[in-house]
Amino acid sequence: MTGGCQLPRLVILLTLVLSLARVDSAFAYLKFGYEVNGEARALRWSDAPISYYVSNDAIPSVSVTAFQAAVTRAFDAWDAVPTATVSYRFGGYTTAVPGDADGRSTLGFLHEPTLDRVLATTSYLIDGSTGELLEADIFFNSVFAWSAAEGGGTDRWDLQTIAVHEVGHLNGLGHSAIGETTASPSGRRVESSESVMFPIALPVGDISARTLKADDIAGISDLYPTEDFNRITGSVSGRVIKAGHGVLGAHVVAFDVATGEQVASFTLNTSGQFSIAGLRPGPHLLRVEPLDDADLESFLGADVPIDLRFSPMFHERLVVVPRGGDSGAVTVVVTAK
Ligand SMILES: [Zn+2]
Repeated sequence: MTGGCQLPRLVILLTLVLSLARVDSAFAYLKFGYEVNGEARALRWSDAPISYYVSNDAIPSVSVTAFQAAVTRAFDAWDAVPTATVSYRFGGYTTAVPGDADGRSTLGFLHEPTLDRVLATTSYLIDGSTGELLEADIFFNSVFAWSAAEGGGTDRWDLQTIAVHEVGHLNGLGHSAIGETTASPSGRRVESSESVMFPIALPVGDISARTLKADDIAGISDLYPTEDFNRITGSVSGRVIKAGHGVLGAHVVAFDVATGEQVASFTLNTSGQFSIAGLRPGPHLLRVEPLDDADLESFLGADVPIDLRFSPMFHERLVVVPRGGDSGAVTVVVTAK
């Protein structure tokens, strides 16, 4: 555990990225995906509750029990979403460490000085023949200074905050692009974010991302929907078109005019199709923008030919999201730049 002056101001929450499921039936959200026997599958758990274990390797500033309490609060944040069925069970402490392929999802610290911009990482173990997700491990890099205090720590990274993001990955969620960054001498600085699944951490000591935002709630509910979910929420779907052709990798954000909440998705195929599920019924404003070119691999993977050459724009009309249904196809036309 070494000093704060060496800390980069921005740290990427890196995930061991599998290829992403670009074309799933709903074109919704960023789900991690993989192919089994030629078939694309979204990464998700088939059984509830999801059991997790805590490595009994502590660091001086965070005891094993404080670690367990902080990560449990992070799991609770996802567990509490009323429109998602996901739930968890603490299985106990273990001498195993994150990354061990033992069939148990293990959370703990590892000392990884070469990963000097990585606070934490989630990795997955999948049965290659059946496609079953066997475990998802989360390691927190003990190179950084951590706090597991319930109120957070001013000059330390908040374990609970980072765990909320990583548990999102453990659930099967990819990154959200709802956030604004600006360039600074040490990299990019996050100005604001409306999703805990934004790939870059807020500044050290910030605990605001302990709380799930509308985008996270829509994402987890889409992946593990309750029976109610599709009945009480609605969706927007359509295409993003430029010069008559579909745009791949456009970021589409739905602003709820009544609440100001934002939920977003991407166009995930060359037809420019998108779908944003889990919206409150009512009028929404759609904004379409290119992804941030400084951080493309965080979202759709390095091998996807994402189109960045168009100007951000608002769709000309408000789109009314019906309760329990879809808006009907919305075509958003963007202009090349
Ligand atoms: Zn991440």
